[in-house]
Amino acid sequence: MNEYDSNRIYDVAKKINYVKTSDLSDADCYVLNTCHIREKATEKVYHDVGRVKKEFRNKKKPIVVVTGCVAQAEGEILLKREKYIDAVIGPQSYQDFNKTILSLEKNKKKIDHTEFDVIEKFDKLNVIKNSQSNVSSLLTIQEGCNKFCKFCVVPYTRGSEYSRSIKELVKEVKELVLNGAKEVVLLGQNVNAYNHNEKKLSDLIYDISTIKDLKRIRYTTSHPLDFSMDLIDAHKKIKKLMPLIHLPVQSGSDKVLKNMNRKHNINYYLNLIERLREANSSIKFSSDFIIGYPDETEEDFNETIKLIKKVGFINSYSFIFSPRLGTPAANIKRVDQVLSKERLKTFQRIAEEIKMKYRRSLFGKVSKVLFENRIKNSDRFFGRDEFNNSVIVESTEDLVGKIKDIVISEGNHSTLIGQILINETNKGFAA
Ligand code: SAM
Ligand code: SF4
Repeated sequence: MNEYDSNRIYDVAKKINYVKTSDLSDADCYVLNTCHIREKATEKVYHDVGRVKKEFRNKKKPIVVVTGCVAQAEGEILLKREKYIDAVIGPQSYQDFNKTILSLEKNKKKIDHTEFDVIEKFDKLNVIKNSQSNVSSLLTIQEGCNKFCKFCVVPYTRGSEYSRSIKELVKEVKELVLNGAKEVVLLGQNVNAYNHNEKKLSDLIYDISTIKDLKRIRYTTSHPLDFSMDLIDAHKKIKKLMPLIHLPVQSGSDKVLKNMNRKHNINYYLNLIERLREANSSIKFSSDFIIGYPDETEEDFNETIKLIKKVGFINSYSFIFSPRLGTPAANIKRVDQVLSKERLKTFQRIAEEIKMKYRRSLFGKVSKVLFENRIKNSDRFFGRDEFNNSVIVESTEDLVGKIKDIVISEGNHSTLIGQILINETNKGFAA
């Protein structure tokens, strides 16, 4: 979502003639877009601003703006502690980015822009063309969260749930497709909680699936509780909807889930997985896990291991519980950190074995890969298969934007290597 936001901030800044530079020393304005989901985020801000300070020691200082959830949560503190920062802008105030910059160009008064006005944000951003031109383009459709898991800052930094209208989203998807997108990734903190005037995520997916040049649709991140029947059904009916579902579960223990205020148990979760597999047998799952949540016992941890073995997640993202200021879990006694680290190591080793077993099962088989870019100074192309696995292929033909049948020959935990399938009958491979 921050990537989408950064692109939109850039679209806004273009209106006052700012252009992107990849050379820090060239910058007149430096924007640091931040995430606050786990600790160390604030320290990273000071570290990065320190880097800018050093770079500009003997030059004219650029305007320095911190955006994103760290700005929202700790903006005032940032402005007080680091004088080099000129403004903080929260995620619901990007529409006023230019006002902030123009005012800073005129005078040096610090600006704190951390109001919550998500309706005004999208009303104003909607009239600015989305210039993103990636084969796989990101699109925020929903922001915020009403669920209040005890460990999570999102309801405080992004505010309550807000869904954009289908009309404006279809328009933006068409814009992205005109820019060259073949795939859109619909984004939301709880993307399947999307609801605008009773229109649901499945309605949006049906609508955009009729856009001819759009070949693939993904969405992330889903909450298990918001998986309604119509969305499950969409996986049966819409071919463009990719069969990988990111479905965070956080823990395999009902006790821990209850302590987290997740509002679902493991039985419900496994049932949901079954219903999705019944709708479309090719569906695979990835998930997020918090290890060492307060009061997690060895038995609870073993339940989590049991769950990953049972489901066979093709990707598992795991983090040690990170206490976030202002959230209810921040005040609960933590699991011993050495023990948490040991559990994380065990978890990641087993999750990796499961992942590699799956990836090895792809060797020698054909995957449909959408190619996103050419690897610099080479004849190699980077793309993703239907399950979002990264695939690299050598080709003399320009593959960008194309979907090809690829025979996977080898690979590791991050990348698969393959060759273009020349034709179905002789199963020959392109060199
Ligand atoms: N809304 C999604 C859900 O609940 O299923 C997840 C979105 S959350 C922004 C992304 C992930 O960050 C969570 O699934 C969780 O695993 C992780 N996370 C959030 N707060 C955390 C914390 N305090 N410590 C460790 N991990 C955390
Ligand atoms: Fe955070 Fe997701 Fe829980 Fe919302 S549902 S509070 S975004 S973890």
